[in-house]
Amino acid sequence: MKDPSTRRLLLVHAHPDDESINNGVTMARYAAVGAQVTLVTCTLGEEGEVIPPDLAHLAPDREDQLGPHRIGELAAAMKELGVTDHRFLGGPGRFRDSGMMGTEQNRREGAFWATPVDDAAGHLVEIIRSVRPQVLVTYDPTGGYGHPDHIQAHRVAMRAVELAAERAYRRDLGEPHTITKVYWNRVPRSVAEEAFARLHADADAGFVGIAPIEDVPGVVDDARITAEIDGTKYAERKAAAMAAHATQITVVGTNFVLSNRLGQPILATEYYELAQGAPGAPEGERERDLFAGVTG
Ligand SMILES: [Zn+2]
Repeated sequence: MKDPSTRRLLLVHAHPDDESINNGVTMARYAAVGAQVTLVTCTLGEEGEVIPPDLAHLAPDREDQLGPHRIGELAAAMKELGVTDHRFLGGPGRFRDSGMMGTEQNRREGAFWATPVDDAAGHLVEIIRSVRPQVLVTYDPTGGYGHPDHIQAHRVAMRAVELAAERAYRRDLGEPHTITKVYWNRVPRSVAEEAFARLHADADAGFVGIAPIEDVPGVVDDARITAEIDGTKYAERKAAAMAAHATQITVVGTNFVLSNRLGQPILATEYYELAQGAPGAPEGERERDLFAGVTG
């Protein structure tokens, strides 16, 4: 694929902010070269914890207005990354944030976790058949770290990939389309360990504490990584996009904190595991481009 404008990348995420944390430099890099980058966010993140005290009134147990507020944060983040096509699955507010695993919000009507996978997947099939991406990025089967909306986003994305290609399925949703490559978000264990070691050594970082590595979604043994996207050039944009999610994230230099105020490094290189499709690099080597080997 020599002409970058024919490249179409679709990312499926659970909440506003996940895309910037996981794929900020990847999205910025492909958008900058003219590829079509489409983000689908499955919920508004209504159950998130609010960091700024002056916005605490938005919380679900008070005014319950965090969802609409986060639509604006996501739009600001996408501006930073240069991404113009961002959508909510089924439209804004169609599926609600399911809260942390084991809470009563999991079973609430309209909660993403409580929605049958095929119902939600139909909405994504419609987007896939219209955008016709060659590459899709989402989480692994654990959702990266076990949040029900992340697990469900994985299930819905994988099911939609299957259904979008099925000739007999819902022709009213568009012509069938086969996605060439599917990737799961990853962080190599050695990279996470090194970045956290640096953070621990930096006495001036000024955090109340440092997050455990287990808080980083998608950490696996290095051998499982099949692609790495060097986004050093876009690291500042990623940081700015993360900062745009101000109710959820505070950026401090090249690090950030979530509502638990524990420091985490911002990774300027992002990593992936090819879950479906043929690798575009020789065996034993990592791809440097998610479209490697994609022909049409
Ligand atoms: Zn999330």
